[in-house]
Amino acid sequence: MRLGMHVHVRGGYAAAVEHASRSGAQAIQIFSATPRSYRVAPPDIQGLAKFRDMRENAGIASAIIHSSYLINLASDDEKIVAGSLRLLNHDLEVAAAGGIRYVNTHLGSYGMRSRVEAFADACRALASVLANIPRDVILMMENSAGAGQLCGGTLEELGRFIREVDHPQLGVCLDTAHAWAAGYEINSQRGVDDFLYTTAEHIGLDRVHLFHLNDTQVDLGANRDRHWHIAEGKIGFAGFRALASRPELNEKIGVLETPGEAADDERNMRTIQMIFRGAAA
Ligand SMILES: [Zn+2]
Ligand SMILES: [Zn+2]
Repeated sequence: MRLGMHVHVRGGYAAAVEHASRSGAQAIQIFSATPRSYRVAPPDIQGLAKFRDMRENAGIASAIIHSSYLINLASDDEKIVAGSLRLLNHDLEVAAAGGIRYVNTHLGSYGMRSRVEAFADACRALASVLANIPRDVILMMENSAGAGQLCGGTLEELGRFIREVDHPQLGVCLDTAHAWAAGYEINSQRGVDDFLYTTAEHIGLDRVHLFHLNDTQVDLGANRDRHWHIAEGKIGFAGFRALASRPELNEKIGVLETPGEAADDERNMRTIQMIFRGAAA
């Protein structure tokens, strides 16, 4: 995998790129704007061009925008859907302006709605975004921890989105902590093999461009979204080692979204790099 990390751009793009490259990151994920607001600002074209140059100089080949946590494509509230579409279209525009290949989004929640109706609405919302997607950008749906009525908690459901919406620029991001919380037992080679088999069956591995590599301390199937340090949680060394052993994932991107400060990021990067190097040896 091409390993990297989520970085904050509060201190500017230069500091973010420097932080990632200090750990030898080959991929970088950022929030395009404040992830908890519906407001959008026009893309900072000059800043984005500099960000692209800095990534190139640092050897960071892959970049991803993580969309806002407010996005809900399955809501029956028109205002929420309109706001979500505005945010998503904005992120795609920023990505295109900055030479950023991927935009990753959560799908949202079915709330109290009938899942059939809400699923159809979410497909329509995705289709409307994809109708105008810039040519060089890929939109990815992230698997959820599956709590309550969250959308996209199973590989089957993500696969249904892929088939129903049927657009070549629609892909999937698989978050290991969310998968564990949704009941996928990925703490062993056998569990990871089953998980990837089911992924291939329902989604197709060619649609999976990105993994969020996070450990977690919650119980299997607990449906709780809590990220933890690599190899220090329930997925553990064995789970990540099993992912690292699968050659069909060599060209995928793996991004850490682990908690803590810069020193924690550096430690988590060293751990995941060591696990992947060990598996390749
Ligand atoms: Zn994630
Ligand atoms: Zn999460």
